[in-house]
Amino acid sequence: MSTPANNTPILVQKYGGTSVATADHIRRVAKRVVVEKRKGKAVVVVVSAMGKTTDELISLSRELSGQPARREMDMLLHAGEIISASLLAIALEEEGESAVSLTGSQAGMITDDTHMQARIEEVEGEKILGHLTSGRVVVITGFQGVSRQNEITTLGRGGSDTSAVAFAVGIGARQCEILTDVDGVYTADPRIVENPRKLPWCSYDEMLEMASLGARVLHSRSIEIARKFGVELIVSSSSEEMPGTLVCSSEKGRKEFGEMEEVLIRGVAHNADVAKVALLGVPDQPGIAGSVFETLGTHSVNILLIVQAESHEGHNDISFLVSSEMLGQVREDLEALADKIGASKLLVDEGVGTVSVVGEGVQRESGIAGRMFSALAREEINIDLISTSNLMISCVVAEDSLAQAVQAVHREFLE
Ligand code: ADP
Ligand code: ASP
Ligand code: MG
Repeated sequence: MSTPANNTPILVQKYGGTSVATADHIRRVAKRVVVEKRKGKAVVVVVSAMGKTTDELISLSRELSGQPARREMDMLLHAGEIISASLLAIALEEEGESAVSLTGSQAGMITDDTHMQARIEEVEGEKILGHLTSGRVVVITGFQGVSRQNEITTLGRGGSDTSAVAFAVGIGARQCEILTDVDGVYTADPRIVENPRKLPWCSYDEMLEMASLGARVLHSRSIEIARKFGVELIVSSSSEEMPGTLVCSSEKGRKEFGEMEEVLIRGVAHNADVAKVALLGVPDQPGIAGSVFETLGTHSVNILLIVQAESHEGHNDISFLVSSEMLGQVREDLEALADKIGASKLLVDEGVGTVSVVGEGVQRESGIAGRMFSALAREEINIDLISTSNLMISCVVAEDSLAQAVQAVHREFLE
């Protein structure tokens, strides 16, 4: 794709936190960007906060309050990305390239007003295109935007990937490079499994499922946007130039890379940042589940899995998973509601995680579930809850056996 003014090809790159962790890292990123710019490209760079900055800012706020206002958290957290973006612009100028850093708000990222989980409503690309046409490298803060009421918002943890893809759409780029501390998407998290395989490509649908089930190499909403607008993602290393993983439509992937054989399972994902919540002894009446999940929904609590056990003596148990970071909100909502709906007990278990297989074979082949459960059983890992769809099977297990569970399932299907 090219800028309207001078037909220059556009390159959108996103660098994650580890890739801009120190001044040295930032200088290295600047040098890499300069190489691309001097090949004649118009370059937009989206950056995350340096290293663990976001975590550190959250810890600071926790020293002052157990439940800080979400608006103030956005004010606090969006500062992290401003530091890395301005430093990168300074480093680029030092390398002899004209550069400008922009906040999400300045770059035209308009969101709704859901603080800490804002949804993107629109990206106005004109300002970015104007700078590109003037020959500047545009460095934009990831993870943040502005509401129509002029309030600063953030997109949720890991949201810089989503910013990058949204900006790519906003300026008409067809591809977006996600440069990170791994050199592609693997069949499982390389930090957990010893010998995972790098995927040359992965379909939007499978990648979305992997990311939603915990593969944090991509923020799941970045894949939704990429799929919707047909933007291809290239996940590769920020420190070395080597082929990464192309995330694209399955038609294009199959055509371009071929498939020696039908792939049953594309990968194994896991998520340790979840908690199990159970409402025990809930009266078996219409409307009860509705009131529980509607209340959580109004506070933007995303439910990852729901199981309602068979009714016994007019009562049910409702169990579900939420992300750990929403647990404070869930407790607040359900402690008030449990009595009202006549539940006998509210249980919260933070010591759980999920292990999931993802692939088109889940729907096509019988026996995948049996193989997965047996692989876990051989390791004496007990399965707490199970959830399935056309593309995945997900099991809740004890958090302290999660790594072992991922390794066992990976061995069964992918080694
Ligand atoms: P960044 O800061 O660049 O956004 P993240 O930490 O968010 O990086 O994502 C990269 C990490 O994702 C890797 O270090 C790796 O541990 C993890 N990861 C989880 N699942 C996978 C997978 N299937 N393939 C590659 N990386 C994965
Ligand atoms: N800095 C934010 C976070 O740590 C956003 C991101 O890195 O994508 O979650
Ligand atoms: Mg990330």
